Amino acid sequence: MNEDRKTLEQRAQMTDIERLRHSASHVLATAILKLWPEAQFAAGPPVENGFYYDVDLPHRISPEDFEKIEAEMKKEIKANHQFEKMEVSRDEALDLGTKGRLAALSDRNQPSKFKIDIIEGIPSGEKISLYRNGDFIDLCAGPHVMRTGNIGAFKLTSVASAYYKGDEKNPQLQRVYGTAFKTKKELDEYFAMLEEAKKRDHRKLGKELEIYVIDEDVGPGLPLWLPRGAAIIEELEKLAKETEFAAGYRRVRTVNIARESLYRKSGHIPYYAESMFPPMELKEHGEQDSVTQRYYLKAMNCPHHHKLFAAVPRSYRDLPLRLAEYGFCHRYEQSGELFGLMRVRSMQMNDAHLYMTPEQFESEFNAVNEMYLNYFKLFGLEKYLMRFSTHDPTKLGQKFVNEPELWMKTEDMTRNVLKNSGINYVEVPNEAAFYGPKIDVQVWSVIGREFSIATNQVDFAQPRSFNLRYKDKDNTEKIPICIHRAPLGTHERFIGFLIEHYAGNFPLWLSPEQVRILTIGDDAKLVDYSMSILNELRAKYVRAEIDQSTDQINGKIQRAEQMKVHTMFVIGKRDMEATAVSVRVHGKGNLGAKPRVDAIAEILRSIKERQA
Ligand SMILES: [Zn+2]
Ligand SMILES: [Zn+2]
Repeated sequence: MNEDRKTLEQRAQMTDIERLRHSASHVLATAILKLWPEAQFAAGPPVENGFYYDVDLPHRISPEDFEKIEAEMKKEIKANHQFEKMEVSRDEALDLGTKGRLAALSDRNQPSKFKIDIIEGIPSGEKISLYRNGDFIDLCAGPHVMRTGNIGAFKLTSVASAYYKGDEKNPQLQRVYGTAFKTKKELDEYFAMLEEAKKRDHRKLGKELEIYVIDEDVGPGLPLWLPRGAAIIEELEKLAKETEFAAGYRRVRTVNIARESLYRKSGHIPYYAESMFPPMELKEHGEQDSVTQRYYLKAMNCPHHHKLFAAVPRSYRDLPLRLAEYGFCHRYEQSGELFGLMRVRSMQMNDAHLYMTPEQFESEFNAVNEMYLNYFKLFGLEKYLMRFSTHDPTKLGQKFVNEPELWMKTEDMTRNVLKNSGINYVEVPNEAAFYGPKIDVQVWSVIGREFSIATNQVDFAQPRSFNLRYKDKDNTEKIPICIHRAPLGTHERFIGFLIEHYAGNFPLWLSPEQVRILTIGDDAKLVDYSMSILNELRAKYVRAEIDQSTDQINGKIQRAEQMKVHTMFVIGKRDMEATAVSVRVHGKGNLGAKPRVDAIAEILRSIKERQA
């Protein structure tokens, strides 16, 4: 997490809902103080889906306390106190802190220790403001809603422990989480969505549907794909390859390890070293004596693709050059951060690097965005947002490559394309990659949960450090611009997302098992007929299976439904005699008998068109 202090400008950009939730954290602190006046508070920001306040208190807050805390919060909301802003000098703020009056209802005999520490960290030029609601006064830069009564509906959700400022050398505090919405209806919908998300949890369905496994002996964060998961992967790669081929991409293949020198050139070492697996040391024979070489597992495909760009002399006629690969990457995520398929240590990425002249940037970038939108349509993603992250000019040379003009130029170009294309985006300062502005793509699953699945980056720095050149029309050597893009993200994260999105009921084209043939009885002729259908389906690349067990048909149907097999062909004597099959679709039930040839043609058409 980025623990940088937010600038005033960034704070002013708090969305309405963040403002409301942050205001709720003041009300939470007010309520806690009514119950435990000795409580000391640290930070109380809005977070994704809610808010928290960090509190230092001898009493251990537990969920059993929530009811009485919420009751106090309700009183404060009912009182409809104004959030009143007061600007004070540093000395006045410190004086109040010494009297214990910050994040408090009255003067106390203990200083507001965390607030004093926070004041000391505020840059000298920055204004210090306090906010008051009723008796509660807090050190805070805001913003808030107008009155406590504007907090429509809220609920406390959990309590966890957290170190002050996230540093384990600091005291451990209790972090009380809650969420708040404008209306009770929205709050109820949110909790209903969480319930639904639990049922659709990709870790639960991933196991039940035999999609992937994480094995202790293989290691944490290293998923293995069972045949049903591999089937989904194959379909996604097929989709990406067809789409990219039509868009003029060319496929390449690279290796999974490389020498340290490569990642020094790319800047991954030292900038990204913490997220990489530690190196392997190999003794290699040099010209005179042997040298120890360090090899790293590849964390990103870019440096390898840059080498392929540089491998051949390039002219403006070769551009744009679009190199694509479903590349394998390994990243060292902290074990505490690993989470099912969402946070892993090995991943296969829908990667490509596009090299172009500045004149080609607009049309290339537009085409990339177009590709995203087409994928969203295919997967039925109605809500998405592109977060356009730009640099902070005060951090050039530290967090961002020191190329002020190139930053301005590329950011302007990117912003213009986003504006002109009417894409849904927001601009976020200070969050760019070190080598250029970036766009994170967030999507919402059908039940309204947010996922960050893909990024898009504009890079003017790596082509320089790799000394990439093309010969322009005027015979001079120029440096190309590079776009990194991965619309389908990684297989791991994207499939994790799709499992929730579809609740495991994949459309036919993606379904791990597309057709299962269920025979009624085991008459030899019937089995022959069923086998001929199975062979025909497989010859046409349909993922088909047959259940020839001696079980009753109802048992066979139940088993197929449990595995969420998309289509069942139920075959009895009457079907055989009519050269037909009885079609049953998961979630839709029995669709009746159809001529064999029609039923198969329909399956093939649905797969080919990638029907929803
Ligand atoms: Zn505040
Ligand atoms: Zn890249």
